[in-house]
Amino acid sequence: MGVEHRCYLIPKPGTFRPRPDTALALVAALRDDGWVLAPDHAALAKLSFASSTLYKRARRHGYFTRTVGQRASFTAPLAELLANFAERDLMVVWPVESLGVSGLRYPLEPLPFDDPADAAECYYEFQLHFGRDLIYHTSEGIDPFEPPPTCDRGHPVTFEPESDFDPFFASRLAARCPKCGSEFDPSQLVATGRDGWTGGRREVQGGAAYRFAIVIDCGKFFGPRPLRFHPRLRRLVEQVLGVETYEVPDFY
Ligand SMILES: [Zn+2]
Repeated sequence: MGVEHRCYLIPKPGTFRPRPDTALALVAALRDDGWVLAPDHAALAKLSFASSTLYKRARRHGYFTRTVGQRASFTAPLAELLANFAERDLMVVWPVESLGVSGLRYPLEPLPFDDPADAAECYYEFQLHFGRDLIYHTSEGIDPFEPPPTCDRGHPVTFEPESDFDPFFASRLAARCPKCGSEFDPSQLVATGRDGWTGGRREVQGGAAYRFAIVIDCGKFFGPRPLRFHPRLRRLVEQVLGVETYEVPDFY
C-alpha cells in the first residue's frame, strides 16, 4: 500500500464532461449541501492556506485552479474560469486543511479517525478535474490498458501533455483520433487494478480515464479502514450531472 491516498469518482462514460453551466450548478449544489466552502463562508478566515504555496490563492474564493503549462496556481470567479477553460485542461481545488475548522461534511466514509477531536487534524483536497482530452491516470494501483488503446481504425490515441507542468501528472487519450478524427471512448476497455487495502487484483472497466472527475486527495490522512465516496455526495453528483458514476480508489 502506498503512503498517500486518492479517490476518483468518474462519470460513465469517461468521455463525459459537463458544460460550464452544469459544472457551475454542481459547485452550487456542493456548497449548499456542505461539501465545499463558498467564497463568503466564515470558515475561510479560520483556515491558514499555508500548507502549500499553491494554497495562498484559495484564500479569497476557497479554491485555487491549475492548468497545464503553468507552475503556479491562479484564481478567478468560477463562472469566468469554467467558460474560459471550457475546452481546456483545468483543475479546481478546494484545500481543506482542517475538517474540524471547516465544518464541512467529510466526502468519504467511514471517517478516517475515531476520536471526534481528531477532525481538527484531518485534511484533504476536494478537486474537480476537467480534461480537454481524456486524462489517463495510471499508478501502482491501476495499470495502463493492455494493449495500448487505439481508435476503431487502429490508430494510437495515447499522447503526453504539451508541458512538463501538468497538475494531473498523467498521459492523455485523444478525445478524437488525431489521424482520422473518430471519437475515442474507453468505456469498454478494462484496466487491471490492485486494491490498496486488501492487495487483491480487480478489473476496472473504463480504467481511470476521464474528461471529468471528482477527486478526493487524502494525502497521508486516510486511516486504517477502506474509504469510499459518501453515498450522499455520490447521489448529489449523479443527480446534478444526470450520469452514473464509478469509483477508483488509488494509492501512490
Ligand atoms: Zn483513428
